[in-house]
Amino acid sequence: MLKLFNTLGRKKEAFKPIRKGEIGIYTCGPTVYWYQHIGNLRSYIFSDILKRTLIYNGYKVKHVMNITDVGHLTSDADEGEDKIEKAAKREGKKAGDIANFYWNVFKEDFKKLNIIEPSMWCKATEHIKEQIELIKKLEKKGYTYKTSDGIYFDTSKLKDYGKLAKLKKEGLKAGARISLGEKRNATDFALWKFSEKPGIRQQEWNSPWSIGFPGWHIECSAMSMRYLGKHFDIHTGGEDHIPVHHTNEIAQSEAATGKKFVNYWLHGAFLTSKGEKVSKSKGGLYTISELERLEFKPFSYRYLCLTAHYRTQLEFSLEILKNAQNSYERLKNIIKELKDDGKVNESYLKRFEDAINDDLDMPKALAVLWELLRDEKAEGKIKTIEKMDRVFGLDLLKKEKIEIPAEVKRLVDERESARKSKDWKKADELREKIKQRGFYVDDTGEGAKIKRL
Ligand code: AMP
Ligand code: ZN
Repeated sequence: MLKLFNTLGRKKEAFKPIRKGEIGIYTCGPTVYWYQHIGNLRSYIFSDILKRTLIYNGYKVKHVMNITDVGHLTSDADEGEDKIEKAAKREGKKAGDIANFYWNVFKEDFKKLNIIEPSMWCKATEHIKEQIELIKKLEKKGYTYKTSDGIYFDTSKLKDYGKLAKLKKEGLKAGARISLGEKRNATDFALWKFSEKPGIRQQEWNSPWSIGFPGWHIECSAMSMRYLGKHFDIHTGGEDHIPVHHTNEIAQSEAATGKKFVNYWLHGAFLTSKGEKVSKSKGGLYTISELERLEFKPFSYRYLCLTAHYRTQLEFSLEILKNAQNSYERLKNIIKELKDDGKVNESYLKRFEDAINDDLDMPKALAVLWELLRDEKAEGKIKTIEKMDRVFGLDLLKKEKIEIPAEVKRLVDERESARKSKDWKKADELREKIKQRGFYVDDTGEGAKIKRL
């Protein structure tokens, strides 16, 4: 039985799908104004593991992910500049080109990290009509009010506002001074923002209220309900979304439909550097391409992410990644030497399944894999690993083509001729030189084979 930790009740719950056929999952996607850093990508590796675990358990999954290409302001409190407009100005490009450029890089990162693409992507700018319809519904039900800069959601009208973040109980931080401006309550948020001066922004639309653009939260309610229905199974995102973005998604969706929005809310913890969320000032803010330039494989980062439970913070440094890369390479090297006996090791597989079904306990699942590899008497290693890797997604059985540097090839050729002329001393010296470059030669019946040390 699959158990998942539901942020709504703060406990592990048995997963029960709404419908027999297909499970609906919505994941808050990136704001495509810049490259996604490895912290962001950790949260997508987490939703990938969740999806793979559901598929492993025999569920059919419809996974929807949005692309925020309008409305996300530099301050989450509905103030500041629109991140996409700002990037378009910075790069002297069209807003749409900025969004498509960073979205494509994001998709490349998915490929590199072996993250399965969602069943469908949806862009905020392509769903303006749905967002306006939803705001109209909220307006009709009396949940909205107008200020000089937009249409806002009145959070005091909803009895259980803040239930996800337990805002009611904990309250707003005592003593925190919040300048309300024209807002009625500190937690109220923008549904629609008016363009300050129409014609200046690149992205703005007509609406029943004024020319403007949608607030950040409304897109996720409008698009998730459009593609998954008013009530669906699972919603995921990073833990920073709990107090504002997801709290507001629940508020506006449930106010509009009068129904429970989502059954299970799952949140991934942060990637940290020196104990704090990775950020420009704290370091650790790499992109996958930057790590590649530092000679790290994207799969090593995926492996690193699997060594921590998704609900615990994961500390990052290049040294930690180097260790993960070594472990991952060791793992692949051991697996490479295994022979397939056609059997499945049911007892190890059962322990693996228990681990993944216990709220996606990947560190435990990895420990089971290592134990299987170390168990000299265990049968069925290859077929069992094949099954496990459907969830790990680490390409454990894929043979990698080793790139052999030209110099190593030359040394190997030289050694071959030394051997042919029975100059064993020289052949041994050359073997040593090859070793120093991280390779070794295996003299097989079919000639010399070059392998990585
Ligand atoms: P954004 O593009 O800012 O909307 O962020 C995309 C996703 O990355 C969101 O789900 C965030 O919660 C998540 N995120 C941001 N920073 C981190 C971090 N340091 N570690 C893990 N996830 C993060
Ligand atoms: Zn969202």
